[in-house]
Amino acid sequence: MIIDIHYHLMPAVTEEMAARFAKHVVRAAEIMGKTVSFEAIVQKALETWADPTGERLIALMDEAGIDVTVICMVDNAGVPHLTQERIQKANGIVADVARRYPDRVMALAGVDPRRPEAPDMLRRCFEEFGVKGLKYHPDYGYDPCGPESYKLLEVLAEHGGILLTHTGPLMPPSRCRFADPRLLADLAVDFPELKVIAAHMGAVDWRSWANLALHQPNLYGDLAMWDAHAFGHYELFCRELRDIIDYAGVTKVLFGTDNPLFNTVEPTRNWIHLLRGLPANAPDGIKFTEEEVAAMLGGNAASILGLE
Ligand SMILES: [Zn+2]
Repeated sequence: MIIDIHYHLMPAVTEEMAARFAKHVVRAAEIMGKTVSFEAIVQKALETWADPTGERLIALMDEAGIDVTVICMVDNAGVPHLTQERIQKANGIVADVARRYPDRVMALAGVDPRRPEAPDMLRRCFEEFGVKGLKYHPDYGYDPCGPESYKLLEVLAEHGGILLTHTGPLMPPSRCRFADPRLLADLAVDFPELKVIAAHMGAVDWRSWANLALHQPNLYGDLAMWDAHAFGHYELFCRELRDIIDYAGVTKVLFGTDNPLFNTVEPTRNWIHLLRGLPANAPDGIKFTEEEVAAMLGGNAASILGLE
């Protein structure tokens, strides 16, 4: 079973969004050693990313061979036009997509803890929309373990939801200090039952994440955006992934894509193919087993999501 734990479903795509996301895609392409034009990515985003019904998601899953996808919405209370009404409407749309494809899709709500109504918003996302958890982007400017966040996480824990939270530096205006995996440390103490997935495992800061994941039973991480390193620097990627597994444990690493963004540079089926090929193709001295790959591609996520 292949499970993508990290997918951004976009009900609509504005020019501003397309330009913002295209920068990340261009950066990933640079890491891969590919040249892509910013304008071409913006154009492709405007033409192909908006997916209010989930049809494009399912087509991409079928094409890549993905069985189940966890889609998310992202809230940012710092953006004036992203009102509470708008984000709740978007949360309702991603939840509807999950309801439309109950065997294939699960949804995480986006609620920024800085909103005064955040706990009520999340409660409604669980009780009326049927979401499975919450997505954070703390690098928009909040502490994932701050007092505002704790009020929201209490609602999340009460509903047995999971938290997918961004970790690792991104280009400005991302406030990278809030994306430090070490900021998640208190969650294991104050919300011991809460399953927390550090998106990107802290990226190059993965050791900070692995150091915690080794000791904190419910802290996981995902491989989203690691495809850039895997295609750009295969040997380095193999070495790092081997170390990540050896330090944190293979059960902590989950497949993810951050799609639809990076499928535009390298098709996701190639990312899966690269991971599947690790036991056969990893450079001399670096070994992976078929069992490890199967666990990362879906087995681990299946146990977290209760799909076994
Ligand atoms: Zn993401």
